[in-house]
Amino acid sequence: MAKVVLIGAGFAGQTAALYLGKALGKDHDITVINKYDIFGYTPSWVWVGVGQMAPEKTVFKLKPVYDKFHIRFVQGTAKSVYVDDQYVLVDKADGGEEQVPYDYLIIATGARLNFAGTPGLGPHDGYTTSICSLPHAVDARDKFFQLMERMEKGEKVKIVVGTGHPGSTCQGAAFEYITNIHKVLLKRGLRDKADLMWLSNEPALGDFGVRGVHIKRHGKLIGSDEFIRAIFDLYDIRWQVQTGVRKVEPGKIYWENYEGVEGETEFDYAMLIPQFLGPGFTYYDKDGNDVTSKLANKGGFVLVDAIYGLPWDEMAHRPEAWPAVYQNPTYKNIFAAGIAFAPPGPISRPFTNPNGLSITAAPPRTGMISGIIGRVVALNIIDLIKRGRMTHSERMTEMFAACIASMGDSLWDGSAATIVIYPVVPDHRTYPNEEGRDLFVTDMEMGLAGAWMKRMIHSTFMHKLQGRIGWQLIPE
Ligand SMILES: Cc1cc2nc3c(=O)[nH]c(=O)nc-3n(C[C@H](O)[C@H](O)[C@H](O)COP(=O)(O)OP(=O)(O)OC[C@H]3O[C@@H](n4cnc5c(N)ncnc54)[C@H](O)[C@@H]3O)c2cc1C
Repeated sequence: MAKVVLIGAGFAGQTAALYLGKALGKDHDITVINKYDIFGYTPSWVWVGVGQMAPEKTVFKLKPVYDKFHIRFVQGTAKSVYVDDQYVLVDKADGGEEQVPYDYLIIATGARLNFAGTPGLGPHDGYTTSICSLPHAVDARDKFFQLMERMEKGEKVKIVVGTGHPGSTCQGAAFEYITNIHKVLLKRGLRDKADLMWLSNEPALGDFGVRGVHIKRHGKLIGSDEFIRAIFDLYDIRWQVQTGVRKVEPGKIYWENYEGVEGETEFDYAMLIPQFLGPGFTYYDKDGNDVTSKLANKGGFVLVDAIYGLPWDEMAHRPEAWPAVYQNPTYKNIFAAGIAFAPPGPISRPFTNPNGLSITAAPPRTGMISGIIGRVVALNIIDLIKRGRMTHSERMTEMFAACIASMGDSLWDGSAATIVIYPVVPDHRTYPNEEGRDLFVTDMEMGLAGAWMKRMIHSTFMHKLQGRIGWQLIPE
């Protein structure tokens, strides 16, 4: 009987858990370790953060799902991994520690939010809000409501949304948040009371950490920079890119830009995405030596079958630099899925300013990508247990991504920018055009249909990830 342990029940971990439970649950030991007893549907926290969705609509309890799939659930925080003795040390939510043994381990812990990387950032010890966890989104909503109360009394306010660290990712979520703020203010008749500003580390508008998107329309190439600029013009949103936030003080964001110029932006309300880090576990061998350098990079992300250390220009022409099976090369029974794996480098062009500050958008690993990786890893572990070899692989140079950024949640007057990218990481070898992408598949649209799709995806994923009837038919 094999023991498979999963740390993290988010998009990657939950997807993997369902595949593992279905294929192995009755005959093998599957255990999921997760900090909380609920799954959280992150994309809808954008709506929670503007008060357009109740927080409880974005979560479900994990234990009943695991009972159906013959999976053991441990609620707690994994803190270290003993790679030779093959167990995970967990601080349990109900007190005490537990050693959870494994033959195969999947690390799917998502992003560790590094608010400390930018002094003054974040809702706990800082002056900005966040929508990166459910409690953060609720706090962001409450502060946004307080701001609107001030606006109702006639006060004019400054709202800044974007990235809060020179190396942040997840610009898509921030973009969605600023457009939803615009829509809510418009509905409340308060839009004229707010100066809305986008502040980001992207090299260009619409880059989103994936080097932007270009599509062919009527024989002409249109870029996501033009697309997003048109939306910002329409919504009267000011913008500033190529900017790394260094520090936040009450009402003031301090930044540096590509030219090395230092400046300040004032705010009454700011939602800035922090830097994301990997799980940050300590890994020990059988003699108690710290072997973390064999398993994780400096950011704590788990090293897998990628080619690390290539210059960016070279990596852009070597799709095999991106991992295919997400397996640690030293400890081959350890896999990483979703945000937890260490990418070989950024997708967007990296930039270091004259002061030596790297202002580089980190590569996003969206929900869809995380789900796909979770599936690949789970199917390979099932393969290894049943057949002794892996048969599944999928690199980010082979993956689709559909990004739907809602602009208001209404199914009648809402809207959404829908961007379909293939492949997520440009592959100049297969697609020898300037984009390194399939220009027939890659597309951008804006309209009401996207708003319907976004709403439908919420319900479909909440259904799928609870392992309800037909869950396997719904693609990641
Ligand atoms: C506001 C917002 C909106 C977004 N919108 C979209 C969108 O529209 N479309 C899209 O595709 N993507 C979207 N994303 C990105 C998407 O949410 C992530 O890509 C996805 O959640 C990553 O999946 P994951 O499994 O790697 O991590 P997560 O989903 O974050 O799951 C990680 C899990 O691990 C648990 N965990 C962490 N550390 C430990 C530990 N030490 N011990 C035990 N458990 C631990 C966490 O509690 C969590 O349950 C959005 C992100 C944000 C923040």
